[in-house]
Amino acid sequence: MKRTIFLLLSVFLIACTAPTPPCRPIALLPDPPKFFVVLDYGHGGSDSGAVGIDTGVKESDLNLQLGERVAKALEDRGCFVLRTRTGADAIGKTKRDDMAARGAILCTEGADCTVSIHMNKFADRSVRGPMCYYQAGAEEGQALAQCVIDALTEALGKSGRLANPGNNFVTRVPNAPSVLVECGFLSNAEDERMLCDEAYQRLLADAIASGVLAYLDP
Ligand SMILES: [Zn+2]
Repeated sequence: MKRTIFLLLSVFLIACTAPTPPCRPIALLPDPPKFFVVLDYGHGGSDSGAVGIDTGVKESDLNLQLGERVAKALEDRGCFVLRTRTGADAIGKTKRDDMAARGAILCTEGADCTVSIHMNKFADRSVRGPMCYYQAGAEEGQALAQCVIDALTEALGKSGRLANPGNNFVTRVPNAPSVLVECGFLSNAEDERMLCDEAYQRLLADAIASGVLAYLDP
């Protein structure tokens, strides 16, 4: 009996004093992501956002298509991308729930920046082209938004455009620089046609990814 107790005690002591394996520092992971980007595809579900006048295309669908191209371009360049949605559905049963869930994802701890993808519309149907918004007063957000609009105008061969200050739910992110990218105007016939085109989507998506990386990795 004494011997059994001694053996059990020895096993217990060895178990208690054996060194625990060290935690793996992130720098030793085989492929650490260069940057962590939160990507938000605007609208979804019954909230389709703007609707194309000529084709009836839904903004929510274009945001998902173009956004996925941005995600791929960022992932190809070594970024980790967290999406607010991955399908056509909204991420909450009501608009309020959807915004709460989106807001929680947008302010995920550790994100280097957030990017929201939307399509614009305006009463004057001649207005066209991409625009980038940052939260008014947010210096880093402004720098990010300017990098993205610079990359977009360069890719489109247009003259430079300033990023616009605004006050939007998706740029009121407390812990990371944020940009709202309005990729073009669904109220403009030419923009609507182009935004539905795969090659044009790829051009814009690559430019958005380049702009984000120009900010994160100058
Ligand atoms: Zn929108």
